Amino acid sequence: MKCKVCDIEMVIGQAIKPTTVEDVLYVMPEPYIDNDNLEIIDVWKCPTCGHSEFIEQIEMNIKYMVKDKQVTFLYYRENELWYTTECGFEFPVPINDVGTGYMNAQDKAILYMRWIRKHLALIDDAKAET
Ligand SMILES: [Zn+2]
Repeated sequence: MKCKVCDIEMVIGQAIKPTTVEDVLYVMPEPYIDNDNLEIIDVWKCPTCGHSEFIEQIEMNIKYMVKDKQVTFLYYRENELWYTTECGFEFPVPINDVGTGYMNAQDKAILYMRWIRKHLALIDDAKAET
């Protein structure tokens, strides 16, 4: 994710959740933010200019699942190695992806991001269809 103003890589930061999802062209969008509806959310933030962008829900979930966390091997079934995250999300790793490499029973979750992302997207698509 790059800042559309500066074209440099953005980092995870925080911002006050806007009350409207449209690009805020006016200073005080309605409904006004007050003590009751004020909410701080995680966003992509440009370290240079402070510009913020929403994080897609999937990206958000992955971030919490892998940050300083581990995955644990559960079982093997039909050419897939099933792992679980610490929060209990189960996802498959096709053995074709492993090739001649080796897989640990426990490993850093961040190394499994591509498979977690793939499975989350699959679940998300299934949800959208129902
Ligand atoms: Zn910027």
